[in-house]
Amino acid sequence: MKYIDEYRDEKVAHGLLGNLQRIATRGWVLMEVCGGQTHTLMRYGIDELLPNSMQMVHGPGCPVCVTPLEIIDKAVALAERPEVILVSYGDMLRVPGSTTDLLHVKARGGDVRMVYSPLESLKIARENPTREVVFFGIGFETTAPANAAAVWQAQRMGLKNFALLASHVLVPPAVRMLLSSPVNRVQGLIAPGHVCAIVGTRDYEALATEFHIPIVVGGFEPVDLLEAILMLTAQLEEGRAEMEIQYTRSVSAPGNVRAQRIVAEVFEVCDQKWRGLGPIAKSGLRMQEAFRAFDAEAKYDLHDIAVDEPTECISAEILQGLKRPTDCPAFAGRCTPESPLGAPMVSAEGACAAYYHYRRHEAVSLVSIGGN
Ligand code: SF4
Repeated sequence: MKYIDEYRDEKVAHGLLGNLQRIATRGWVLMEVCGGQTHTLMRYGIDELLPNSMQMVHGPGCPVCVTPLEIIDKAVALAERPEVILVSYGDMLRVPGSTTDLLHVKARGGDVRMVYSPLESLKIARENPTREVVFFGIGFETTAPANAAAVWQAQRMGLKNFALLASHVLVPPAVRMLLSSPVNRVQGLIAPGHVCAIVGTRDYEALATEFHIPIVVGGFEPVDLLEAILMLTAQLEEGRAEMEIQYTRSVSAPGNVRAQRIVAEVFEVCDQKWRGLGPIAKSGLRMQEAFRAFDAEAKYDLHDIAVDEPTECISAEILQGLKRPTDCPAFAGRCTPESPLGAPMVSAEGACAAYYHYRRHEAVSLVSIGGN
């Protein structure tokens, strides 16, 4: 299949690995910031093939994993209201809040529906004029355009029974926070290709300069990731710190300007709490004043719902690249995909789910090889 097979080609992958073995002289620590990339690394065993003790650590690239627990509780509170139809993506329905998840609310009679696009919720709202329809949408810069388009369209249609419960996070401020940390171990960064396809590469150029760290915007297939790792390693070995694009088939420097425009029309940048990382300045999106009537938190007065994260889950340290899922005492024991304690195990993109799914129960932990 065009654009798939050539990026899973075994010969090409072996060639890239050979080049990597030839140039890597040190155990560089590299981080990917995308759950899809984490899963590809695990699925194809790329992390185990790296030479000279090079390490991959996994950053805050899984949208479900960084969504604050209280936003799940807010969605649950809305779904329990008899007048509300709560609409969301499938993987959000299983994410545990502090007491329950949306699937259990549905099992108890709540009207919870799964869709593939927020625009489908507008149709549901139009077909159910006596009910209140809330789309629960979370994610990085990639999902913001579709959510913005839904709100924009709802305003044009004059829908009064539609609202958006959103938790949008922006990757560059979180990367800045990680790289500023005194315990940071990351020496090279694979930036998320899908995010850059929307927002472009300007912020990542600025990060490479500010922290003197090589950044390569990477794709999601095994050859993409091996090439991105090779490009990062070449920069590190040569003492360069530049932003480069490996995922050129989708990413351009300016990004998707039309998508950026609709996001800027509907949303504005705000401070945002990240699960595991805490509050990060200017790292989120909230609705502009002109669209506040569609803001579910304001419409249903949900601001007071707040909860603490469970102490047993070490997702905070995993998201910062300080530990791996196998360092968690609950991993594959008390915490499994069937009975998850934290979001990184329940989400399809979570690092803990990736380690579990690809049988990394025996993987060497960062603790035992000298990490923090
Ligand atoms: S294994 Fe479970 S409890 Fe441990 S960090 Fe992952 S999600 Fe949290």
